[in-house]
Amino acid sequence: MQPVFRYRRWLDDEKRLKPEGPEWQHQSKPDIELLSIAEIESHLPPLRGPQASVVNYVNKLEEAEKRLIDFYNGNNNTFQKHTWDMKRAKHIEYQAIANSLLRIVGGSIGERRKDDNPVLIGVGLGQFRSSSRLSSLHSSFLSYFVPLVRSLGYIVISLNEFYTSKKCPDCHEFVTQVTLRKLFCRNCGRYHHRDVMAAENMSNIAREYLLNQERPLYLHPVTADGRYPWVESRSPGQETAEGATVGASTTTAPIQAGGTRTRKKRSKCGTTQEKRERQGKVAKKL
Ligand SMILES: [Zn+2]
Repeated sequence: MQPVFRYRRWLDDEKRLKPEGPEWQHQSKPDIELLSIAEIESHLPPLRGPQASVVNYVNKLEEAEKRLIDFYNGNNNTFQKHTWDMKRAKHIEYQAIANSLLRIVGGSIGERRKDDNPVLIGVGLGQFRSSSRLSSLHSSFLSYFVPLVRSLGYIVISLNEFYTSKKCPDCHEFVTQVTLRKLFCRNCGRYHHRDVMAAENMSNIAREYLLNQERPLYLHPVTADGRYPWVESRSPGQETAEGATVGASTTTAPIQAGGTRTRKKRSKCGTTQEKRERQGKVAKKL
């Protein structure tokens, strides 16, 4: 996701620039000429709330109009060129990521999935929190990826990721965290990579749904008195929060019929811990 971040940083810096040059030094210039674009945009009067006034807003906007038009459309189209470059770079990067994800299951973005070798792609429902001021691009990638792979004949389902990075897929006990991405299961004495383990758990969920139409019990929340609220709240014919609802949203863990387990390489596409948690997912044998 580097092109987008680079572009946002560039735009931020550009907007912070104060007008300079001798012609701006004269105090006779109206205030608006001395402000940066960021200041102009953040000083527009509110359109909502108690002090909202469309008239004030439009008046201020008209004062600033020339500066804004110069910024967004003038200046040799610098803004539009940067925007176009970013979009192109982003698209190419999305293609590359989608391709490397599909390669795990022996496909590519230019190839329809054969009907006799179907692949189920599980996508986590989790939403990312981005710790930087830049928002997460995960859902932006998914809005590219999900329609693409569906059009190629892949089956995409979304899965609730509850406990998937907390419990061991082998013995179903809680794991302990060793480092940021390394987990240890005391019960089986096995180390897990957090993302790989989460993906294994997600493929367990998908498999259980296919075989028994329910989520594995070890990946259910349990109350203090040992009840499973999700199981109790489930009514026949209706998928609940834990369900494998066919739909959109985050995280990919493809499960291939007759495939082998491979680590997904998606470390490029995020900068925060939460993002990485959903990356590096696994393709797993069903
Ligand atoms: Zn274990």
